[in-house]
Amino acid sequence: MAVKRTASEEKMQALGLVSDSDFVFHLPLRYEDETQIHHIADIYPGQVAQLEGVVENVAVSYGHRKQLTATFKDATGKISLRWIHFYGSQKAQLEKAGLIRIRGEVRGSSMWGYEIIHPKISKAGQSLPQTLTPVYPSTEGLTQPVLRKAILAALSRVDFKDTVPEEIKEKFHLPSLKESIFILHNPSQHENTYALLDKTHPAWQRIKFDELLAQQIALYLARQARTQLNAPKLTFDDTLLFDKVLKTFGLPLTAAQQRVIQEIKQDLLKPYPMHRLLQGDVGSGKTIVAALTAALVLQNHQQVAIMAPTEILAEQHFYKMKKWFEHTSIEVVWLSGSLKVKEKREALEKIQSGEAQLIIGTQALIQKGVEFANLALMIIDEQHRFGVGQRLSLSKKGEDSQLDIVPHQLNMSATPIPRTLAMSYLADVDVSIIDELPPGRQTILTKLMLNERRDELLNHLRVECQSGKQVYWVCPLVEESETLQLQTAVDTYQYIQEYLPDLKIGLLHGRMAAKEKAQVMQAFANRELAILVATTVIEVGVDVPNASIMVIEHAERFGLAQLHQLRGRVGRGDIASVCILLYQNPLSNTAKYRLKALHETNDGFEIARRDLEQRGPGEFLGLRQSGEQLLRFADVHSDANLVEKAREGAMLFLQHYPELAHQHVERWLKGKTDYLRS
Ligand code: ADP
Ligand code: MG
Repeated sequence: MAVKRTASEEKMQALGLVSDSDFVFHLPLRYEDETQIHHIADIYPGQVAQLEGVVENVAVSYGHRKQLTATFKDATGKISLRWIHFYGSQKAQLEKAGLIRIRGEVRGSSMWGYEIIHPKISKAGQSLPQTLTPVYPSTEGLTQPVLRKAILAALSRVDFKDTVPEEIKEKFHLPSLKESIFILHNPSQHENTYALLDKTHPAWQRIKFDELLAQQIALYLARQARTQLNAPKLTFDDTLLFDKVLKTFGLPLTAAQQRVIQEIKQDLLKPYPMHRLLQGDVGSGKTIVAALTAALVLQNHQQVAIMAPTEILAEQHFYKMKKWFEHTSIEVVWLSGSLKVKEKREALEKIQSGEAQLIIGTQALIQKGVEFANLALMIIDEQHRFGVGQRLSLSKKGEDSQLDIVPHQLNMSATPIPRTLAMSYLADVDVSIIDELPPGRQTILTKLMLNERRDELLNHLRVECQSGKQVYWVCPLVEESETLQLQTAVDTYQYIQEYLPDLKIGLLHGRMAAKEKAQVMQAFANRELAILVATTVIEVGVDVPNASIMVIEHAERFGLAQLHQLRGRVGRGDIASVCILLYQNPLSNTAKYRLKALHETNDGFEIARRDLEQRGPGEFLGLRQSGEQLLRFADVHSDANLVEKAREGAMLFLQHYPELAHQHVERWLKGKTDYLRS
């Protein structure tokens, strides 16, 4: 017989609260300290204060907005109260309320006086709670007392089997799981309130440690699983192809480029598939490393694929590879979603027969229907641009198309990922870093300019372009609507064309046909265009070394990493480059922070650090779309030291208690380990 659920139960289920253990691990977001009454003389802005006193001067005012106001007084001072939403009867109620207790966030300043908006009101003189009051994550219509009751009930029933062995608990001075959970749900007034609030309390540490430990164990398991797979067999005795490509490239490699190629080579000789991330700031020369790595593998008569997130970038890689492999017998093939049916069929046939050896393309490369003859290496450029799902489908693809041979994988990214973040999210990935730019680069000068000076800037660009310089003009991001963004680009293009009739101006945006885009890019690369007006389609990878001026309109709307990437389109040759960030006042604080950061530094690592500080890891790694929160309690940024400990603990755990280790992962990650394979 089906049990009928109450409305509250349904709401709890929607929050994922079904079993006792779900409830027990539904931990407070924060606590409210209702254990004491504050004095008005001691309160400060931002504090959630609990006061006892009387109400005076209750009045309804009809300014630009109708509101209810009052003065609240205790023995030490007075503050204002204000209601924007209120009932007609509320005024009269307040007037005869007498001594009451109120609670709310203090706003204002000591100079102009404090106020509380919409205070919570209760009877004065009630006994105060002895413990901090937990505030749980909840949903509309599910009150804290109801949730709290359900959690307390679950606490009395649940089996608190501690999956972490004594040895590890002792080593890292961890309290027991049961004790920790009880403290978190019911902290006594003797507990260190601040430690509970900022989650440094040992009870919180235990929970976070457990979660990170599970993650680290899962990482080791993922790596172990990978070492059980078979990779294509490769040898590097013959370097003919490598030498040819290098010769066509024509420039000496930087020491960093040489080093990463050696690191990659070591991996490619192993019997199990490589999983390496090549990091290097924008302009550090990752593409030639990809080409040379490809050459090493192609020499073994096996296929290599290079995948890029945008059509423009993929196409640019295609032309580069064609050029670099020109004097070889390698057949370079292009595959993208925009190919005509017949061209696509031909490409697919060549890929399946093995006639196509080096295959360049977009996501089309990992779609159904693409069968490789003998894919040995997949290179993914700007890897962070692909969603987690896409990265997964790639590794699965490799597995089933090759039966028992899994291709090597080289990911490339200009977004440096801080160590702790890489350690906890980036699966089992080895990292190589190009920490040096090719010689002769000049630092890009970054200028901030008010949007009102746009025409002045255009006059200046006229002169610059007449002397042969080339400009990217990036149109503002319009988050709400792609159509609107397109329109802005077209308008800007027309405006600049009219303003600078003597100059050749080009337009590039995402809705153009692939062929048109390629033509415009080619014209710009050939210096036939002086100014390229573009949407963010040019954000990643695009490489036209002669372009030395980057103008970004409404720079305040872009994210930090995005601005750094865009700026990286210039400063690629030996011409001194400038990046002009046009902005519109008023600026929000975050926008100010971003523009300031960009103005202050060109260093991608520093920018990434500041970006992470602002946005948090999920968004930073492009995991936001996946909608899945990977860690519930720990934060790899603020809990960096715990990540290190968890890593050490995980190794111990797996070596001595493999059975328990699996149970531990199951408890904490419940089927969320798939991302670790990406
Ligand atoms: P990214 O790492 O951002 O992908 P690219 O591979 O596009 O950078 O390289 C940026 C520019 O630097 C390209 O024009 C490339 O030809 C050039 N480049 C790469 N390596 C060297 C080198 N060793 N010496 C001189 N120029 C180089
Ligand atoms: Mg690149």
